[in-house]
Amino acid sequence: MSSSPSHDTICLPITFINELSQSNDLHETLTLISNWLPQIIGSDRASVCLNNGSDETLEVFALFGNNAIEANTILPISSTMVGRVYSNKQLEINNNLAQSKDLDCQILHKGGLGSCVDAPLQHSGTCFGTLNLGSLEPDTYKPEDGAQLECIANWLANYIHAQMEITEHKKRAETDPLTKANNRHCLNTVGNELLKLWETDQQPFSMIMIDIDHFKQFNDNYGHHVGDQILVTFSQVINQVIRKSEHFMRIGGDEFVILLEGNVDLATKLAERIRKAIKDMALKHDDDSLIITVSCGVTSVQNQDSSLECLYNRADKALYQSKKNGRDQTTAI
Ligand code: GH3
Ligand code: MG
Repeated sequence: MSSSPSHDTICLPITFINELSQSNDLHETLTLISNWLPQIIGSDRASVCLNNGSDETLEVFALFGNNAIEANTILPISSTMVGRVYSNKQLEINNNLAQSKDLDCQILHKGGLGSCVDAPLQHSGTCFGTLNLGSLEPDTYKPEDGAQLECIANWLANYIHAQMEITEHKKRAETDPLTKANNRHCLNTVGNELLKLWETDQQPFSMIMIDIDHFKQFNDNYGHHVGDQILVTFSQVINQVIRKSEHFMRIGGDEFVILLEGNVDLATKLAERIRKAIKDMALKHDDDSLIITVSCGVTSVQNQDSSLECLYNRADKALYQSKKNGRDQTTAI
């Protein structure tokens, strides 16, 4: 038996296999694959496209080498080679990109590429994306390169599918199904990260606790489904007011928490912006205009705080003061 690689043999670097088996995050897995693939099948570019929930588009999730089509680009399924490979679940080779009518091939050609090969990523009959290689030269890929890429794609599809499932489960476990806000799990995760930064770098952070005023009355007067709609719209408004770096969570019922970097003054200003935005929120029910108000409790990390619970208790106390003093207001401790 010959020991040298032939066209029906694939040589995979040991480091690649080791890194792949240790990866437990979808993005890391995709990056690993695109980084290693050009070494396995000689190429100048590798990318992974995945279905991003739309029936009409694919998204470039990971990329290595030539960036004629950049990461995060959304490609239409209908007028592209990747789209066709994805829909037909069949590998395609194009060794003359200059002549192609496909949108992605034309962009690749403009970006300096001469050939490409795309393989479907499929698991149990479902295609969830494509694995793509590109070369600067025309006439690069032979049928045996295609066969190798297809084989690697089928093998990697198992990994990607497992990672997608894990990512989906993680997201579901951290998301409140009604409002799509993060749930109580994130309070500890994010809060303890901020506490660590405070302990090491003295970087201050704050907690805002928000509770809808007399929420029960909306349920009682208009029905539970209207109460649900209030919670959904309330969360959408808050997401429009806060920055990406500020963490919004539903703690339970009509109680929400925001964690943010910064001192108590900054947090109080945000709480007031939220309180006013909620009051201005236009919510119609039949002929009634529903005016929702909220009470807020604000606090910042202090030297004596030994755990997140200390902040939580203080924010709760501040919220209680707002309720006691007539609601629709913010109290900072
Ligand atoms: P306060 O101003 O003191 O906060 O009064 P409140 O009525 O908001 O407070 P209370 O804690 O008495 O009532 C909260 C209500 O929120 C009771 C519960 O039925 C309702 N609730 C909790 N979760 C949900 C939900 O997911 N959907 C709906 N529609 N109602 C919910
Ligand atoms: Mg309430």
